[in-house]
Amino acid sequence: MTYPHTAIIGSGIIGAALAYALAKRDAPVTVVDEGIMENRATAGSFAWINAHRPEDAHYFALRLHSMRLWRELAAEDENLPVRLSGALNWEVPEDEIEELARALDDGGNTARLVSRARIRDMEPALAAPPEVAIDAPLEGVANPDTIAQALLAAAVRMGAQTLGAQVTGIATTNGRVTGLETDAGPVVAERVVIAAGRATPALLDAVDFTLPMKTPLGLLVRTKPVPRLSQRIMTSAELHVWQMTDGRLILGEDFGGSEVGDRRADTEARALDRARATFDGVPLEFETSTVAGRPVPEDDYPAVGWVPGTDGLMVATMHSGITLAPVMAAHLSTMLLDGAEVEALEPYQVARFDRD
Ligand SMILES: Cc1cc2nc3c(=O)[nH]c(=O)nc-3n(C[C@H](O)[C@H](O)[C@H](O)COP(=O)(O)OP(=O)(O)OC[C@H]3O[C@@H](n4cnc5c(N)ncnc54)[C@H](O)[C@@H]3O)c2cc1C
Repeated sequence: MTYPHTAIIGSGIIGAALAYALAKRDAPVTVVDEGIMENRATAGSFAWINAHRPEDAHYFALRLHSMRLWRELAAEDENLPVRLSGALNWEVPEDEIEELARALDDGGNTARLVSRARIRDMEPALAAPPEVAIDAPLEGVANPDTIAQALLAAAVRMGAQTLGAQVTGIATTNGRVTGLETDAGPVVAERVVIAAGRATPALLDAVDFTLPMKTPLGLLVRTKPVPRLSQRIMTSAELHVWQMTDGRLILGEDFGGSEVGDRRADTEARALDRARATFDGVPLEFETSTVAGRPVPEDDYPAVGWVPGTDGLMVATMHSGITLAPVMAAHLSTMLLDGAEVEALEPYQVARFDRD
């Protein structure tokens, strides 16, 4: 079977996972990335793989499907930097937590309420375990520093090509995509996928398509390595934390907007103070921090699929891209290679923003 050549703009988690899915089917694919790590949401992500929002059954099912695919990917390649060893969450108020646990469980994301005594057994390093928490054993994390590179490297081993270049335009003839213009010369392709995260709207502007997007900022603090404290991701109203394989803790904080202003140092200090209180007696030291904008389409849902007005042009951009990458890669590769529509992606089509 001969497939059309796809050029993907962006080698963050979405572009890399899609390249992997295409290469696995022996489809020709070239991934182009300008390689500016600070612009990459994936590298600044808290990288929690989860199923939330059970009140939205369709979206919840999509996330669950992706969690299952992450498990399959991790089984396919044991070196993939993914760890699905559970989450413990006590972020919501105590009077809502029981109902949430039930809704998560009823929706299929195995979840149960656990009491303080049980939490103490599960997470002995916690200084003051909460009264109750939701134990979600199927959730997990991907290493934000290496996951996209690992998937891309696997795609390259199966025949994918990569190009380090900035895409400056999308080439079209008579309304049909013919490839990319880059600062390293043209790339000829029959399909183009824009998986450029926050840069996606600017690239779409060139084909007169407006994708409204917000980019709320988030901060990650990495501590210096400490002995193993936990295998789980833990989230409370105060702190989001998990421990990397090398012993570093990742602490996540929001800025609640798109301006950091002079809040960075305070936010770092607060995250570290809270982590020190959480793991009392563990000498936690600041190592580095990142600030990154989340690529969030205006209505909070993914924006994927064919771009109206330009044949052969597809978009794949979203928040929760770490969670959703495998399911998006599976469905979008079906659309690209089999010419099929995918029912599961109907609500997330970028065409919903076509206001002409
Ligand atoms: C603080 C924070 C916390 C988050 N927490 C979670 C979480 O817990 N769970 C979860 O599932 N998701 C989370 N997310 C969201 C998730 O990280 C993103 O949805 C995902 O990383 C987006 O990946 P991407 O591949 O679309 O974009 P990116 O990772 O931004 O990659 C886009 C790539 O496109 C390239 N590019 C852009 N323009 C061009 C151009 N013109 N030419 C060439 N290359 C170009 C860039 O260099 C970049 O490498 C979080 C995000 C942030 C910032």
